[in-house]
Amino acid sequence: MEKTARPRTALNECVKVVVRCRPLSDKEKNEGYEEVVQVWPDRGAVQVYNPKGQDKLFTYDAAYDCTADTQTIYDEMVRPLVASVLDGFNGCVFAYGQTGTGKTHTMEGTADHEGVIPRAFRHIWAHIENSASPDVTHLVSCSYVELYLEDVRDLLAKDCRKLTIRGQELNGFYIPEMTSVVCKSAAEMVRVMRAGNRSRAAGRTDMNEHSSRSHAVFLVTIETAHRKTNRIRVGKLNLVDLAGSERQRKTGASADRLREASRINQALSSLGNVISALAENSPHVPYRDSKLTRILQDSLGGNSKTIMIANIGPASYNYDETITTLRYAHRAKAIKNKPVRNEDPKDAKLREYQAEIERLRALIEQR
Ligand code: ADP
Ligand code: MG
Repeated sequence: MEKTARPRTALNECVKVVVRCRPLSDKEKNEGYEEVVQVWPDRGAVQVYNPKGQDKLFTYDAAYDCTADTQTIYDEMVRPLVASVLDGFNGCVFAYGQTGTGKTHTMEGTADHEGVIPRAFRHIWAHIENSASPDVTHLVSCSYVELYLEDVRDLLAKDCRKLTIRGQELNGFYIPEMTSVVCKSAAEMVRVMRAGNRSRAAGRTDMNEHSSRSHAVFLVTIETAHRKTNRIRVGKLNLVDLAGSERQRKTGASADRLREASRINQALSSLGNVISALAENSPHVPYRDSKLTRILQDSLGGNSKTIMIANIGPASYNYDETITTLRYAHRAKAIKNKPVRNEDPKDAKLREYQAEIERLRALIEQR
């Protein structure tokens, strides 16, 4: 009997935008800075007190104040997205905001405050363990790249080699030489992430500055094969900690630094242009303008479920940057994605591995 392909209907789904405001730091408290941000979590609203005029009010899919922990944000917003990835959809969570507002705190977290990324790892493995059955096989693999000055570096390769992005806008971009590490547990995925972070920091005396100027993309691919139906579902999850969105101060910066700063901002302004074009339904979306937007093409306006976490600080001296982030985040709410379940893609590794096992089995039987 001929198999009929299941319809791959894509329902439009908007990018979900979450704002998280960190607490005033001790330094800010000691220096006497006032808080100008008020979050209304039950309304998903953020109000910014404007000393020179009217207050500004923005609303989002969710807004969290400094009392919210990452577990709440994960459970309320990220968990459903990771559940979809486990079901064969693509997903992306990216943290945006000025340096020092909590992007890394939110995504990676610390030893005593686990971030979204390690929580996603644990969630993935809890699901795999709960659905263990002789009829289901899972394969989880990880890649980790950094974008810095329009170079894409492979953080899991020994020499952190530069990678080339290939492909066309219409068929999507991909990075053929990117290292992919198969993992067997959440703990192993955390070790892979840490090894990548060590490569990122290697030879740098200015790690904080470097991480505020580069974008980090952790990619998890989960393949699930069902023996009875012989189908393979592939979900890809992009976890992105973007460079700081602040405008670079001109004072004191060397020519090199300014050039570097403008290129870093170029990637973020390309991202802004892509967001605007998508929000306005423009016929041309300038994905090609930067490597960041090429890598995130599917996540923005394509085959993906996407969450943007916009991080802000509450202090008065960050007023301009906070408003800029809130406007940027507000625009992103209008982006419509078209997520479809990835069923039986040609490049499924499990398919390749199964074929290899069959080949070896046949060889053994011949002996
Ligand atoms: P970014 O990655 O955006 O530059 P970080 O994540 O490094 O910022 O955060 C800057 C500082 O603020 C860190 O010391 C971090 O621990 C602290 N911080 C950020 N967000 C929070 C939060 N929600 N609660 C408590 N501390 C936070
Ligand atoms: Mg950071």
